[in-house]
Amino acid sequence: MSIPFLDLKAVNQAHAAELEAAFKRVLDSGWYILGNETSQFEAAFASYCGADQAIGVANGLDAIFLALKAAGIGPGDEVIVPSNTFIATWLAVSHCGATPVPVEPVEATYNLDPARIAAAITPRTRAIVPVHLYGQPADMAPIMALAAQHKLFVVEDAAQAHGARYHGRRTGQLGHAAAFSFYPGKNLGALGDGGAVTTSDAALAERIRTFRNYGSKVKYYNDVPGYNSRLDELQSALLAVKLPHLDAGNAQRRAIAAVYARELAGIPGLTLPQVPDWAEPVWHLYVVRHAQRDRLAKALAERGIGTIVHYPVAPHLQPAYAELGYKEGDFPLAEAIHREVLSLPIGPTMTLEQAAEVAAAIRQILAA
Ligand SMILES: *Cc1c(COP(=O)(O)O)cnc(C)c1O
Repeated sequence: MSIPFLDLKAVNQAHAAELEAAFKRVLDSGWYILGNETSQFEAAFASYCGADQAIGVANGLDAIFLALKAAGIGPGDEVIVPSNTFIATWLAVSHCGATPVPVEPVEATYNLDPARIAAAITPRTRAIVPVHLYGQPADMAPIMALAAQHKLFVVEDAAQAHGARYHGRRTGQLGHAAAFSFYPGKNLGALGDGGAVTTSDAALAERIRTFRNYGSKVKYYNDVPGYNSRLDELQSALLAVKLPHLDAGNAQRRAIAAVYARELAGIPGLTLPQVPDWAEPVWHLYVVRHAQRDRLAKALAERGIGTIVHYPVAPHLQPAYAELGYKEGDFPLAEAIHREVLSLPIGPTMTLEQAAEVAAAIRQILAA
């Protein structure tokens, strides 16, 4: 038996003919940056998310960064981020010259705890970046209420949550802006790097469009010192092929999650994901928790089952953030989560039988 964590080749092979046709169309067009393919994908993706606009950028990190930058975040500003997230959430803040201010999660959902945000707000706070971690939406209503009260800008980090719903509304329309990644392994993945910002704020969208293209609205005329961060025509064309299949892929992930929830229920010491009734997650990751995480991962690997730890080290303990001066124990929830989480295989081409096999293996390992 061999069950990979995610079979990316199979994910893309399922659309091979359509992807090849899109590649040929771009090849034959002779136009590779900022053309019809990108504007058509932007329109389709905005419509999917229920936002007025999508702006294609080079990757998910840049999507968060450019949204913050366009909102005027800069040196001296503080931005509230989850203490447990992929480091890109923090890096986007740092690249603006601002300071990431970590806030601990709700332990049951791993997402930013709205009740803890107020205590972290200072006169310098300018923005909040809630992350829809593992594909489950953060509790956005109280976050937006706090933001309105303190005049803060909110950008959703939706890199793991394409299509997820909060009280029935899709991510990408819940904050002032939202940042998506199209890294190959994400729920909507390109065959390379890619990202997008969605927003219904026309002025903000215009500033992001300018920033992604050298600060220029008219070629060779530069209004602001911008960046080069564009989603290219080829990735846009490939993403346009995959977008109509996103919901089906998410449905298969949901079915796998249901098998895991059923087959793994009641194992002592094993914590399963919990879903509030207002959340419709898209299961980018199916993350369990166990005190003997490393033993479990090793035993699964010996049986040919792939797992990954998302993520082994909390951002505040990374050497990259040594300058912030945090130490072990400063964010105990995040630290415990990073010590104990394990992501099980899940993906649009994985079968329910495979999920049942993974669950049976876990049951066996943890009974021993
Ligand atoms: C993947 C990811 C990003 C960054 O996206 P890239 O396209 O890899 O730059 C940001 N935040 C989270 C939560 C992610 O999972």
